[in-house]
Order: sequence, then structure tokens, then C-alpha cells
Amino acid sequence: MFVSERRNGDRALVWRSTPPAPPLPGELWTPDRTVRHPSDGPRRASKYAVHQGLAPRTADDAVRHLAEYRHRIATTAAGGALAQFLQHRPARPDQELALPDQDRLWANVLVDSIQARERLIAHLQGGQVADLAELSRNYPGLREFLSTEIALALGVAESTATRRLDEAEAFTTRLPATFAALHAGDISDRKARAVHQGTGDVTPDVARQVERDVLPELPHSTMPQVHELIAAAVIRRDPLGADDRHDRARGRRSITRHHLTDGMGTLKVFSTLQDIATIHTALTAMGEASATPDDERTADNRRVDALVDVCADVLDHGRWREQPLPTQQRRRPHVHVTMPLTALLPGPPTGDMATLAGYGPITPVQARQIAADATLRRLVCDPLSGTLLDHGRTTYEPPVALADHVLARDLTCVMPGCRQSAWRCELDHTEPFRPGRVTGGSTSAANLAPACKHHHRAKDGGGFRLVRTATGYAWTTPLERTYERPNTRLWAPAPEDRPPPPPPEDPDPPPF
Ligand SMILES: [Zn+2]
Repeated sequence: MFVSERRNGDRALVWRSTPPAPPLPGELWTPDRTVRHPSDGPRRASKYAVHQGLAPRTADDAVRHLAEYRHRIATTAAGGALAQFLQHRPARPDQELALPDQDRLWANVLVDSIQARERLIAHLQGGQVADLAELSRNYPGLREFLSTEIALALGVAESTATRRLDEAEAFTTRLPATFAALHAGDISDRKARAVHQGTGDVTPDVARQVERDVLPELPHSTMPQVHELIAAAVIRRDPLGADDRHDRARGRRSITRHHLTDGMGTLKVFSTLQDIATIHTALTAMGEASATPDDERTADNRRVDALVDVCADVLDHGRWREQPLPTQQRRRPHVHVTMPLTALLPGPPTGDMATLAGYGPITPVQARQIAADATLRRLVCDPLSGTLLDHGRTTYEPPVALADHVLARDLTCVMPGCRQSAWRCELDHTEPFRPGRVTGGSTSAANLAPACKHHHRAKDGGGFRLVRTATGYAWTTPLERTYERPNTRLWAPAPEDRPPPPPPEDPDPPPF
């Protein structure tokens, strides 16, 4: 809500996160007692609870109820009291009451509720930030594996958990005003994160100056505006640090990939602008060089094809710049696809899927294209192949056929949620192998599991335990919390048609 205010000697429109309260229906608002709220100091409690139980009988009553509700949610600080008011929103007034301009009034009630819920969500996220920061200071396990613990508890990717822990640490140390604004519900979680991202490469002093500069503008700014405001404030407050910031940002250059629907995905390159220009210029030139007179591909299509050709060529020859590629699990690096035999056979679609290890499901047609491509390694799952799957306790290193079986069976690291391709993992003896002893785990399919370097360390020295169960793997964290990783289903029959679930029952229906 904009309000007119004097700033720097001029009158300006300034954003206030709390909208002005609708007029008070006086006779309903006689304060009957004063309660002390731990964070807000003395606050007034009205007879609101009394009115909640009464259905409005007249149009005047209904208008007063709605006005009271709107005033309450607009003026109550984000917290438990606001949550209660929102939970007890009056019902839409009965048409028979014939309220003047009823539709507009009700739409305003909904907009006010949406605004108030937005403040409440931000407040809860602020509380979660505080919890994360406290856990980070007091985690009894190794700090390195705290993000694994959080990722398992929330069912999020470990990179997401790491980011949230980093943000929580920054908010509670470097950016106290941003944290306070989030906790008060004045700015959203996304805007608070933008302040963190934008000030990650400046000194703590500059970070505090920047947050003070931009915070008053953030509530009414869109996300692109927020990023611009922060970037401008960083340059204004630290004009000499641009080169250092660039060097530090360059240190984070990376390629990230994302799995999308329809058998598609994206690859995002984060690097210097000159690197991006080099890549784009080269791919454009290669794409143009590959164009034929009747080429129907777009320029973008040709750039992608050129990039894929270069990479497929490297994998195909197993060499790059005269050096052999390092092997993975004693095989040259390849793209790994696992599919049921039926997916290989041409015919009408049956709902069978193939799986690209570490990425996700692809269609049978895509799978057949890959199977027809000599540069890609194909693993057809056949439980009747008779592969020797148990090599007892005499051999530590699993033979290639056994390793292939385990890798194709599990496809990825066996930590729940980890998508590291099994072929880039280490093969871990779930029960440790003890050479020359009658006890200990065997080198067998039942006792081998792929684990990425990070999660292998979590088990060997990080305080995590792993056991095989009838249905998959069970991990126990240093906090003694157990998480299941079900066996990978390489293919699954189409699910049976189930009736839709019943609509959820409102646990606390409005009283009107
Ligand atoms: Zn892993």
C-alpha cells in the first residue's frame, strides 16, 4: 500500500506493508481486556470471539462482521494471532441479506486474506530460517552432512538443503535487517534470498549498507526490480570492489542440468560473459557449417545439434586432446539407458518406459534411438541372463559383470533423493568386506550398492548407517532418524484406475 510521506525533504509515495485499516465498527470493538503478548507488548483483545459464533441476521451485521475481520487481519502482526483470525474468516454473506455491492465487498475480503496469508507465510519462513541457523550451530553430527540430514527430513535435493542452510547462516549474521523484515512478514522469502544472493561477494559492512538502502523499496517491487535495486546499491556502496566480486563469482562457474517433461531437459552454463560469447559464437558457426540447402532446423536447433555432436564424438573416441578419458567402473564414460525388452520392440505404446541413469524416464522411441546409436552403451534388463551375482568373500573388487548388474539395478547413488548416476559412484560393500575372515559382507549383488563419494563418506566416518531391507535400503542418520530408499523399479506396469480421493474435510469450518 502506498502512502504519501516526507523523505529527504520531498514528499514521496512510500510503501507500507500494512494496509490502512478499514473503519472500525465502534460498538463491536470496545476493548474488554488488555493482554501482554511476548513479542508485541501490550495488545488489545476485542470481543471478537463472541461474535464468531453468531450468524449475521441483517445486512448491517454482515457488513460489520466483514469490516471487523478485515481490520483484524490488516492490523495484527504476523504470528499465531493472525493465523487464528485467518482460520476463522467469516463465510461469504448469504445472498438473501442483499448486501450493497456484495461481490466487490467479498472480493476485497479475499484480497485482504491473500495479503495477510502472504505476510504469515513469510513470517513462518523467517521462523524456519532461525531454526536452521540454530541447528547449524548445534548439530551433533559432522557439519559436512547436515545438509544430508535436512534434505532427508524435508524431501528436497541436497543442493537445496545446502542453499537454505547458507541463507539461514547469512540472514542471522550478515543481514539482520533482511531477516527481521522476513520474520515480520514485510518481505517475501524470495526477496530476502535476492538480498542474500546480491550481497554474497561484498564485505559485511557493505552488505548491511545495501540492505538498509533497498529494504524500504522491496515490498512493492517485482523480482526483476528487486535484483536491479540490489545490483545498483552494491555498485554505489562498493564501487572499487567490482573486480574482486567478478573473480569470486567466476570461481563459482558451473553447469547444471534439469530434467523436464516429454523426455526433455535443460543445461545451464554459469560463467563469464566472454566464455558464454565464445561458446555461443562457436556453436552458431558450427551450426551454420552443418546446414544443408533443405535443412528445416532452426538456428537454435543447429546450435544444440553441434554441441551434442562434439560431445558424442569425444565419448565415441574415448579421447580428448590426445588424452584417454578416465574410466568409470572400468568402462569408458557412456550415457546409460536401462529399458525393458518390450520397450525395444517396435509396436503400439504400452506405457513401458526406459530410464536414463541419473536423469529420469524417457519414451520407448527415445530409448530405441539410443539403442540404435553405436556410441551409447545399452543395458537390457533380463532377469534370466544367469549372470554370476555372488562372488563370496574371496574377491573384494566385483567382477565387471557383477558391477554392471548392480549399477544397472540401482541406477543412482542409493541415498534417498541423490541422483548421481551409479556409473559415477563408488561400489560400497553395505556390510563391510573383511578379507580372510569368515564374517563380513560378501562381494555379491545383495551386499553391493553404488554410493556417490559424498554419501559413501557419510557412511564411512560420517555417522550414517546403511542396511539392506526386503524392499530396498534404509539409512539411519546421526540423529537416529531412518529413511527408506525403495528398490529402483526399472519398469512398472501401468497403474490401475483408482477412484479419485475424497475432498479433504475442513478441520475447522468457519463458524458462520
Ligand atoms: Zn549420493
